[in-house]
Amino acid sequence: MRQLFPGQGASRGNALGRARVRQPHALEVAEERIPRAAVPAEVARLHEAIATVRAELAGLRARLHGALAVEVGEFLDLHALLLDDPELLQGLDELVTRERYGADYALRVQRDRLAAVFEGMDDPYFRSRVEDLDHVIGRIHSALHSHDAEVSGIAGEILVADTLAPSEVARLHARGVLGIVTGGGSMLSHSAILARSLHLPLVVGAPQALAQVNDGDVLLIDGATGLVIVDPDADDLRAHRERVREGKRERRQLHRLRREPSRTVDGVDVRLYANAESREDVAEAHSLGAAGIGLYRTEFLFLQRDHLPTEEEQFVAYRDLVLGMTGRTTTIRILDIGADKADGSGLALPFEPNPAMGVRGVRLALRRRDVFATQLRAILRASGYGPVRVLLPMVARREELVAARRMLRLATTRLRDEGHAVAEGIPLGAMIEVPAAAIALPTLVDLVDFVSIGTNDLVQYLLAADRGNDALPELHSPLHPAVLQLLQQVISTARGHGRPAAVCGEMAGDPMLTPLLLALGLEEFSVHPSTLLEVRREVRAHDLSALRARAPALLRARDRAGIERWLSSLVPA
Ligand code: PEP
Ligand code: MG
Repeated sequence: MRQLFPGQGASRGNALGRARVRQPHALEVAEERIPRAAVPAEVARLHEAIATVRAELAGLRARLHGALAVEVGEFLDLHALLLDDPELLQGLDELVTRERYGADYALRVQRDRLAAVFEGMDDPYFRSRVEDLDHVIGRIHSALHSHDAEVSGIAGEILVADTLAPSEVARLHARGVLGIVTGGGSMLSHSAILARSLHLPLVVGAPQALAQVNDGDVLLIDGATGLVIVDPDADDLRAHRERVREGKRERRQLHRLRREPSRTVDGVDVRLYANAESREDVAEAHSLGAAGIGLYRTEFLFLQRDHLPTEEEQFVAYRDLVLGMTGRTTTIRILDIGADKADGSGLALPFEPNPAMGVRGVRLALRRRDVFATQLRAILRASGYGPVRVLLPMVARREELVAARRMLRLATTRLRDEGHAVAEGIPLGAMIEVPAAAIALPTLVDLVDFVSIGTNDLVQYLLAADRGNDALPELHSPLHPAVLQLLQQVISTARGHGRPAAVCGEMAGDPMLTPLLLALGLEEFSVHPSTLLEVRREVRAHDLSALRARAPALLRARDRAGIERWLSSLVPA
């Protein structure tokens, strides 16, 4: 039966395919008995998974430090204790050996038994331990399936899950998934940014879809409007075909702008850089005539691996990036790993209580100087092959810039001594995404050669709205007077000091906001290649001086509606 579920469009594109549902933490396993001969191997598989989890927990524990060691450590210790509980282990063994249950089903049965014991206790503390039990069982279950059996054969299907880490998005894409629907998540999460970069349709914030879609249902998802249709009817399918055709027509028209300049009606050239995450992005950016790469997020090099990339591995990636841009500037951002992009290398703290405000970006770089120095060396070596700029994420204080500059100087001298060709005067820039840096830019600007405004984070910190929290969509918008005023202030301070300023957050790639940013004085944008031509079309449709003349009216807007009225009153030149 046809059903419609609303969500938020997070990565454009339509997908039509069968659903694969992955329920959160649920061990939805049917009763499974195994042949007697398979019992020893199944017990061994179970023990191996438990040993893996034990090692994972010990590894996590060892990486904790400071206040976290106490707070999170307690909870890890509790999980380790549960894992060693003879009741749990013997029970599992017996279920496999005596009942001949498969490991998954044995886990499920044993979980239900122990949960019943906890839930039957009077003490609320013990009752609440069911949650910990579920964490431990969930970890063993994941370890049993660490070879990703759960997403094997996902090619041609649409995954419906609760939330996904960026590394999972990358893996699913590589395995040929057609699209993704998540119950939680937000447009500004790194998973969403990555999905856009991979041109993978994504709908987030669709809890009803997660609750009601079943495995094998036919789904039609629209990554622009966020609509999820189960069992689409003939009209839906016709509309889908029409949208696909329309999309192709629009792409053909936009394609003609490939070789056109990004020039306003009154003849001002606006620099359109590209945000690049992959080799494909770089090739696309180049072919669309991007001015260069305005943001290369290096953290994607660190994801999906269980060790840190070596200097050589990083050097090869950066060198190829630089070579791919054939002489156009490439801006490489220092690793900005946070708990939402936690990797297998153990660099980020997966359990920071508030990772968005934690040890990430330049903060992590200055605590892990070994990792920072290796990355700087790799970037500087790549500068021998074409123009490179270094970008520091999460800058908040002058001291950070002083320290980073010193490290850059040191690495340059060492590399030259070793005989490497390092370019002269590599520009060092700061992401302006922490409100303190935006407000106090006049006190920092002498230490940077350029700035890049990260509106994704700037909005979340300015409005105190976690960019990954789907409960606050009305606050995840740059259409707030405080954001616009601050943007205007940053752009004019940078310009007053002769420093180029770009916006590289997602708002730069929204063509509806192009005239707004031009009015605020922006002349450099860094956008994902998939929206570069649309932004160029907008730039070419407007008269810059007319827009600037209307900036005071924009800055007088008192709410979102006022800003939207300003936008809708614009008539392209
Ligand atoms: C930003 O914060 O706007 C930004 C571009 O960086 P990221 O999305 O990687 O945090
Ligand atoms: Mg950021």
